[in-house]
Amino acid sequence: MSGDVVYRSSLAWNAERPATIVITCVDGRWYGHFQEFARTHLGAGPQVDFIALPGGVEPFALAELAPDDFEAVRRRLQGLLAVRDARRIVAIAHDDCAWYLGRTIRSAAGTVRDQQIADLVRAAAVLREMVPDATVELYFARLADGSPEQVVFESIPTHP
Ligand SMILES: [Zn+2]
Repeated sequence: MSGDVVYRSSLAWNAERPATIVITCVDGRWYGHFQEFARTHLGAGPQVDFIALPGGVEPFALAELAPDDFEAVRRRLQGLLAVRDARRIVAIAHDDCAWYLGRTIRSAAGTVRDQQIADLVRAAAVLREMVPDATVELYFARLADGSPEQVVFESIPTHP
């Protein structure tokens, strides 16, 4: 049984499943930049699976401190992996992230950026264990100096 159609997408349907999964924050100021980065820089094709949640990849870094959060996102990633052959997992953190600015769990890492990068690296180890066949890449998005402001992406090594 179908409901009343209220809108028809102008995009053509493509049933091919992408090989890349990108894990990001939901922040709408940054999200369009993440999508462009995935298409243009990562060359991940017009269709990319995104897992977007406030704070991005953070739950994968907090398996011990927040096991319920970890388990929730782990199950969802497993659900995606069950229907595709994911060869590449990309995690992107971003500057001025409200989730991290409000976060109360802190490790010894210094600045908020240091904490985010430490979490990216820890999450990468967890993701590699979960998906041994996939490569894991890490990036940090921030505003560049200058006017008008532009968003730039830094590559973050997966090992500290
Ligand atoms: Zn954020």
